[in-house]
Amino acid sequence: MNNTYYGKLIFELSTPGCIGYSLPENQWSGHTLEDLPANLLREGETILPEVDELTAVRHYTNMSNNNFGVDTGFYPLGSCTMKYNPKINEEMASLPGFTTLHPHQPEYTAQGALELYYNVQKSLSEIAGLHEFTLNPFAGAHGELTGLMVIRTYHEKRGDLKRTKIIVPDSAHGTNPASAAVCGLQIVEVKSTPDGTVDVEDLKPLLGDDIAGMMMTNPNTLGIFETKIPEIARLVHECGGLMYYDGANLNPMLGVCRPGDMGFDVMHINLHKTFSTPHGGGGPGSGPVGVRKGLEEYLPNPQVKRQEDGYFTLVNNPESLGSVSAFLGNFGIVIRAYAYLLSLGKEYIPMAGKLSVLNANYIKEHLKEYYKLPIDVLCKHEFVFDGLREEYGGDHHDPGHVTTLDVAKRLLDYGYHAPTIYFPLLFHEAMMIEPTETESKKTLDEFIDVMKKIALEARDQRELLKTAPHHTPVRRLDDVKAVKEPKFTYKML
Ligand SMILES: *Cc1c(COP(=O)(O)O)cnc(C)c1O
Repeated sequence: MNNTYYGKLIFELSTPGCIGYSLPENQWSGHTLEDLPANLLREGETILPEVDELTAVRHYTNMSNNNFGVDTGFYPLGSCTMKYNPKINEEMASLPGFTTLHPHQPEYTAQGALELYYNVQKSLSEIAGLHEFTLNPFAGAHGELTGLMVIRTYHEKRGDLKRTKIIVPDSAHGTNPASAAVCGLQIVEVKSTPDGTVDVEDLKPLLGDDIAGMMMTNPNTLGIFETKIPEIARLVHECGGLMYYDGANLNPMLGVCRPGDMGFDVMHINLHKTFSTPHGGGGPGSGPVGVRKGLEEYLPNPQVKRQEDGYFTLVNNPESLGSVSAFLGNFGIVIRAYAYLLSLGKEYIPMAGKLSVLNANYIKEHLKEYYKLPIDVLCKHEFVFDGLREEYGGDHHDPGHVTTLDVAKRLLDYGYHAPTIYFPLLFHEAMMIEPTETESKKTLDEFIDVMKKIALEARDQRELLKTAPHHTPVRRLDDVKAVKEPKFTYKML
């Protein structure tokens, strides 16, 4: 692709005097700039790109074409559940009755929206085996923070102020320790055994009257089902702590088992993963938090309740931890999740869980001859390879060996998004693959073929991988610099 518009910044397309709009006459003629306070008035001319409408359209369309998305190709990004977001969800969320709602309009005029919100709370409670949910948090990490605040509030209300520590497994998603730190808790790390699950013997000495609770992800970040949960939950409860479930990726559990039944007290779910709403680039998301009976009072305000007569109302509970969001969170995302829940129904929700497990195991079994599989067990929705096998260029004693990064870059050449790489930190060459339940067998087979082809290239044409990608708009970037020194504004020379 090579044209006037491609790869240019919009300022570089600017032609002085060019205009791409025509505005109607100011109908608020009574008001002039003089009505604005002096400190809000601009002092100089604004520097904006001057382009015609079509140039603006082409610029943004070209930019969007440089992006990779679930709608453009297979996206096996582990721990992110990049599944298909059905278009019907978008249609439902675009209905004018929803898009024109105002958060301050009287409750009796928003009964339908409140009912929808309430029904999602109830559906999630049923799916998770918990008593009550809030949909207020804006993301998974925000849900973690909210859930941990529930745990803190619970201890504080009992006057138990010593509990300032939270146990987090070494395999946890990075947001777990981060949210705990934001919540003012001290993090105590518990190790994993060689089979990838929480080490109960390592856990025991950590427990005491200063423990607020323990966070667990299940299936954990390696995609493995934590089989010792009943024992762990008993130990943590015996020491007075609460059990927190990171349910960001609840896919494989759907309709099969429930965190509430396993002994968890608090959890979050990512609607923008498990319940098929779009995500990427930081939002918008939704991280509902569920609690067992006895903790519901502490959930954030406002809470949506259904009265005896069927009227839905917002309640500000005095026992609540306070408020974590403006109004009711990202309502548009909740609508999408509701559309998904209703289109699958109770009947087909369990199928989503089982297919996510089948798809992951299907890929794992086909590729384990080529890529190192450090923990060779039945996985759930995802699994982790530790780079290429020795015979395919992955021998790490060889200084020029082919790395996970090389494989990830080469995948881009074949039109696939890379898996999650170098996470979790338990292996040097981690490559975390999550196909999700929405991919067809054909897509999985094609991906498997490409991964095999790359392994053969790694063995026979190492340089090809070392210099990949060859066919993308940009090649190997300094990812760290891009994150640490992002440039959001255009500097005129
Ligand atoms: C994605 C994820 C999170 C964080 O969710 P965000 O919405 O990105 O904040 C937390 N835990 C796990 C296991 C996840 O996969």
